[in-house]
Amino acid sequence: MTILFAAGDWRWPIWEAPLRAAMRDAGLDDGALTLRADPATVEAMIYAPNAETPDDFTPYSRCKAVLSLWAGVERIVTNRTLTQPLCRMVDPGLTQGMVEYVTGHVLRTHLGMDTLSRTRWQPVPPPLAAERPVAMLGLGTLGTACGQALACLGFPVLGWSRRAKDVPMIECHHGREGLRGVLEQAQIVVTLLPATADTENTLNAETLSWLPAGAAIVNPGRGTLIDDAALLEALDSGQVGHATLDVFRIEPLPQDHAYWAHPRVTVTPHIAAETRPATAAQVIAENLRRLRDHEPLLHRVDRAAGY
Ligand code: NAP
Repeated sequence: MTILFAAGDWRWPIWEAPLRAAMRDAGLDDGALTLRADPATVEAMIYAPNAETPDDFTPYSRCKAVLSLWAGVERIVTNRTLTQPLCRMVDPGLTQGMVEYVTGHVLRTHLGMDTLSRTRWQPVPPPLAAERPVAMLGLGTLGTACGQALACLGFPVLGWSRRAKDVPMIECHHGREGLRGVLEQAQIVVTLLPATADTENTLNAETLSWLPAGAAIVNPGRGTLIDDAALLEALDSGQVGHATLDVFRIEPLPQDHAYWAHPRVTVTPHIAAETRPATAAQVIAENLRRLRDHEPLLHRVDRAAGY
């Protein structure tokens, strides 16, 4: 089997050792892993889209799987030349990073850390977490882990997904009709949806108006989930009290973007959760083993749904 690492040459020194070790642990020949190969010989690709990597999959005629290093696959899923099964990244290290980012920023918001005076004694204690409902938009790998971590801290968590779900510790809602009920109760909204045609502008002028005045937003999902003009207007009017944004329609966020200077916006530079080579390599190796043993692949992307 020839396995091509097609995620950018500069990543090869970071990924080679963990991938080879994980392949050996999975009983695979790590000699099959390579940075260069004749496309016609490649049977699996470890892939991340960037300027160096192929975006025409046609020459990879023997390739049986494309294994994404990233959880979000919006830049690959619409590629018409990609006819092979596509698997996205579900990495315990990435999930843990997202849980830490989301709980950290929800607690920061909940405790009013940004509004504490540095010069005056203003003893206004925050409510308890139990009095601060959180909406978790997206109940996949990351939304579920983050929602359950917040529930463990005492926050009432209202979850929202495309299809009906039953997730312990989370009050689940789904479909367009479920969104309003979730947002009407939420004092903090966390968005962990994939970027698809259906999720674009999930938070827009109308849906933002359903929130209780002063609610906060934490978006580590994707920039397309939010109508930026509507959010800026809601921030200016006070309808939204604060937004912590990790992801944007254009990245890096342009220096003249209104978000940088807005007093009610915290910008983080797409650092909420990284794929971690030590743990992610094991996920890749398990899928390569499944491919060799003709078993179903894990984390297959539903091409029609786009995630
Ligand atoms: P996932 O497991 O695929 O879960 C996606 C969730 O979104 C599912 O619950 C799904 O509903 C829901 N959803 C999709 N379309 C919907 C719609 N139209 N209406 C309502 N709900 C919808 O994805 P994940 O692993 O949790 O990751 C979520 C996203 O996080 C990724 O796609 C990526 O964009 C982002 N991310 C960001 C970073 C960062 O550093 N900022 C890092 C990693 C990932 P169902 O359950 O019904 O399918």
